[in-house]
Amino acid sequence: MTEFDFIRKYLQNQQQDHQVVLGIGDDAAIIRPQAEYDLCFSADMLLKNRHFFENVAPEDLAWKVLAVNLSDMAAMGAQPRWALLSAGLPELNEDWLRRFCNSLFDLAQRFGVTLIGGDTTRGDLVFNVTIVGELPQGKSLRRDAAQVGDDIWVSGKIGLAASALNCLLKQCDLPSEVFQLCEAELLRPMPRVRLGQAILNFAHAAQDVSDGLAQDIDHILTASNVGAEIWADEIPTLPQLKKVLPRKEWLQYTLAGGDDYELVFTAPKNCREALLIAAQNSNTPITCIGKITDSGCLQVINSMADRMEIALTSLGFDHFG
Ligand code: ADP
Ligand code: MG
Repeated sequence: MTEFDFIRKYLQNQQQDHQVVLGIGDDAAIIRPQAEYDLCFSADMLLKNRHFFENVAPEDLAWKVLAVNLSDMAAMGAQPRWALLSAGLPELNEDWLRRFCNSLFDLAQRFGVTLIGGDTTRGDLVFNVTIVGELPQGKSLRRDAAQVGDDIWVSGKIGLAASALNCLLKQCDLPSEVFQLCEAELLRPMPRVRLGQAILNFAHAAQDVSDGLAQDIDHILTASNVGAEIWADEIPTLPQLKKVLPRKEWLQYTLAGGDDYELVFTAPKNCREALLIAAQNSNTPITCIGKITDSGCLQVINSMADRMEIALTSLGFDHFG
């Protein structure tokens, strides 16, 4: 199979999208933007042995390559619409590529995303997706919009992916049924696209949790020039995980693990009820884990009862740290 067979057979001929004036097959794609919408752009790259193991199933890899980008759209409150996929591939293995593409298009269709282009070259296994979304004009969930007094909310459960990864790296032990629940989150995170749009009218600041909850909250604090207090025991977790892990490891993976692809956002107190309804309508649980303060820094409190402050040695993942 040649590069061009691959493009023709597996990437072209997707569903109709009336805003795609020209899709895959020319030198570039053409999109016709809708009136009264802003376009929202992001890119995320996944490298072998850094973001995924070499022996990962192509279905899981494709899912993650697109899901991490959908998660960025979710964190902006945007509707993801179009994606470009650049791939470095050591070989064109037709079976592997068919499985990869089936999974990629499955996820893309669930969220209304059309693949409009990309690039394919021979090389070490690497993927980059550039994603384009739509936002109602003037609206967005930015990092610099948190206000003192806001509640801090997080979606889903935090720390499962990091627990699975640390188990695979032999840094901790998990019973197999707990490991399996955590590994599912590591391999196939569910981007919170519907939640992001549902909170667009209520939330102040938001971002997705990709590099560790504490570090990602810290990004909001820095951008918004505020502080925060979060309560470790309020952070939603898998109850069995909290039971089997030593407290130190549980805190480490939950506060500084990463790869969760949940949303963390701030919103005024008077929006609590509206947010809980929005969360229910988007089938995504949300939990209040703290509040924005004027302290200028992030304070992690062990529990609301003991009010003991936890010193964080490492906030999260830094590729150059
Ligand atoms: P060029 O020579 O201009 O780079 P290519 O021959 O690489 O063009 O690509 C032909 C068409 O296939 C283009 O529309 C390009 O966007 C698309 N394409 C190539 N690789 C991919 C890919 N991995 N995913 C999606 N579209 C791709
Ligand atoms: Mg090319």
